[in-house]
Amino acid sequence: MIFVYLKPGKEKSLHRRHPWVYGTAIASVKGSPWVGETVQLRSHDNQPLGFGAFSPDSQIRVRMWCFDPALTIDADFISARIAQAIALRNSLQQRTSAIRLIFGEADQLPGLVVDRYDQTLVVQFLAAGVEFWRETIVEALQQHTGCTQIYERSDAAVREREGLPKRTGILRGVEPADVQVLEDGVRYHVNVQQGHKTGFYIDQRENRKLVADLVRKIGPHATALNCFCYTGGFSLAALGAGAAQVVSVDSSGDALAQGQRNLVLNSFDPNRAQWRDENVFDTLKHLAAAEQRFDLIVLDPPKFAPSAQHVDRAARAYKEINLKGMRLLNPGGYLLTFSCSGAINVELFQKIVAGAVIDSGMPMQLLQRLAAGHDHPMLMTHPEGEYLKGLLLQRVD
Ligand code: SAH
Repeated sequence: MIFVYLKPGKEKSLHRRHPWVYGTAIASVKGSPWVGETVQLRSHDNQPLGFGAFSPDSQIRVRMWCFDPALTIDADFISARIAQAIALRNSLQQRTSAIRLIFGEADQLPGLVVDRYDQTLVVQFLAAGVEFWRETIVEALQQHTGCTQIYERSDAAVREREGLPKRTGILRGVEPADVQVLEDGVRYHVNVQQGHKTGFYIDQRENRKLVADLVRKIGPHATALNCFCYTGGFSLAALGAGAAQVVSVDSSGDALAQGQRNLVLNSFDPNRAQWRDENVFDTLKHLAAAEQRFDLIVLDPPKFAPSAQHVDRAARAYKEINLKGMRLLNPGGYLLTFSCSGAINVELFQKIVAGAVIDSGMPMQLLQRLAAGHDHPMLMTHPEGEYLKGLLLQRVD
């Protein structure tokens, strides 16, 4: 067994069951662990604190598997954690075939992301520990899901911070071709090889459902604007609920083309959908100049603040799109506005949007705070895991 000794006082975060141990908290390492090998954590006065995976090149030097010094970290331990995470999501299968089965730290499997798209699993090994156990993990996934098609998308930038090269390709089965999912009655193509994340924004499921519910409430004349639409998740949900007209905007032609294929897949009338290959900041100006108005607007931009240094600039960008977006609302119209920047917390995001409301001069009510679905939970002892936040506002003048 390899022992990692912490500096005096640094055991406190482990007593609070926070799963990350920074290199700066470590006094010494007794032994020479492999990348990702299991080590036992000890306080400066030699108290055992649990086990974690060693990552020599990362600032997060150890990610904890458990805080119980009596456990053994082996294939059975990993397999049981995987089985538990999958079982927690079972009931979602009634609504959808796109489910995040494992969400890293939240499922006490730090760095592991597994998404299920129908019969295909897409896996991301984003930390040294899960990389070390990759064969065990793939075996367990196959055993607990019955899926024989498993694809790796370990191409997220965070791998580099772990000193791990990017890696993609088939782990089991054959090259995935035309993967499709069915969510709340709407079909979507998923490009697992090249799509964002693992191919689809699974995390927006509940908010797609909210869009559908609002469109039904507004009625068959409903018009919607989906900014940063990617492959049209929110657009398809609105069209599926009977929206009369949906304008979708993205600067990626490939994403829009897939959105149009999604339209065909659902046999939705193409005349009800308009796809604009544009910069959203320009589109919002053009639509204002053309005096177009909408009953429902979605703003789901990319991460404007990739780190704390970018917060000020990001705040200005969020404010601008929100102000320009809300000015395009019909009276009674709804705005769903999101931020997936981890560096901008819920309070700050709400403050930025409130700033836009003030400048707009319009009375706006906050009806609901929005977040990712239950398959993207946050571990209460690891608040860093929270990222997606949103607000549902209604123009009430
Ligand atoms: N709402 C989408 C996910 C959005 S991801 C969904 O639910 O599936 C962010 C998208 O914004 C990407 O598709 C990217 O191409 C697009 N994008 C980024 N900057 C943009 C800009 N300035 N104008 C238009 N689209 C942009």
